[in-house]
Amino acid sequence: MAGIYLHIPFCKKACHYCNFHFSTQTTHIQSFVNAIIREIELQKDYLKGPIQTIYFGGGTPSLLSQTQLSTIIKALYANFDIAPEIECTLEANPDDINKDLLAAWKALGINRLSIGIQSFQAKSLTWMNRAHSIEQSHTAIQLAQAAGINNISVDLIYGTPTLSDAALIQDLNWIEHYQIKHVSCYALTVEDKTALKKLIEKEALKDVDPAQQAAHFELLSSRLVAMGMEHYEISNFAQPGCRSQHNSNYWSGVPYLGLGPSAHSFNGISRQWNIANNALYIQSINRNQLNFEIEQLSDANRYNEYIMTSLRRMEGFDLDFIKMNFGIHYYQHTISTIESMRPKNYLIQDQNKFMLSKAAKFLADGIASDFFILDAAQWS
Ligand code: SF4
Repeated sequence: MAGIYLHIPFCKKACHYCNFHFSTQTTHIQSFVNAIIREIELQKDYLKGPIQTIYFGGGTPSLLSQTQLSTIIKALYANFDIAPEIECTLEANPDDINKDLLAAWKALGINRLSIGIQSFQAKSLTWMNRAHSIEQSHTAIQLAQAAGINNISVDLIYGTPTLSDAALIQDLNWIEHYQIKHVSCYALTVEDKTALKKLIEKEALKDVDPAQQAAHFELLSSRLVAMGMEHYEISNFAQPGCRSQHNSNYWSGVPYLGLGPSAHSFNGISRQWNIANNALYIQSINRNQLNFEIEQLSDANRYNEYIMTSLRRMEGFDLDFIKMNFGIHYYQHTISTIESMRPKNYLIQDQNKFMLSKAAKFLADGIASDFFILDAAQWS
């Protein structure tokens, strides 16, 4: 079992808050497509076992033409053992979606769309500098559903200063109206080196308010759960049977290959990440050379990742799994950390499994870091 992620590093316009790797120089898309096809060939032996999920992320994969996407998919099938019941996701921005492209995606085997709606509020889209309008968001969802692509995920961003509680409720009303199967909700974060950070420093835009973000998180998680969705990961909600298989595998430690600039790969022993520069990526691949950095994962690295990803999921972490996979020292360390946290009521216990209480979910990353092993040498 394994997955493939393809990073398509181009966007029409730079959103103010974005710190992903992308370029707005879309004239280079074809050279990139030629390079990623060569990378597919160079990396064909990285994964063992059939590929169960393919995920086109970015950047903006919906900028690829039908021919470009088709050539990439053909190269994947020619070089990997792809399972028949594959989940194949494409991230798409509303302004790219039209009837012809949807029919083409469906014919190419794309059976899941992740649509970058972010907000159904014009004021918030302008504040974020998104390329699309709210009319395009509504049309995109309606066209995708009419085309028979029902496995749709919608991204929402909360905690923007322009988003009132009433506006967030209106966004959630649209999710219910369209009977969306999967929602990914992200708190707006002000990352270094983004336009947003500079605009806030210059006081051209209002800063985010952590109390408002916590209130939004509570509001949207209660409402989405009331709609029948499972809050299966801190930022992700799905109707039963509609979780993202690709991301669920990623959080369960299933190996994956990342293709394209900045993409990460994981094979159970090491993690590697491609150079985050389109020109240097293309130049290397044209010389038949992969350009990445690699980190061998220690037991402590793997334990920390297991705790982080498990605590973010509704299933939580499993003491038996820790004892079996990491040994007695990690097991005892986990128990003593659980004990030290008891007065705070962060954790709920179900036999040997521990998951976050509802109130603790917004604090997931901080709570996970209290479990982290920074120096395992003490046990050697
Ligand atoms: S479309 Fe996505 S990847 Fe591109 S700039 Fe906006 S947030 Fe970033």
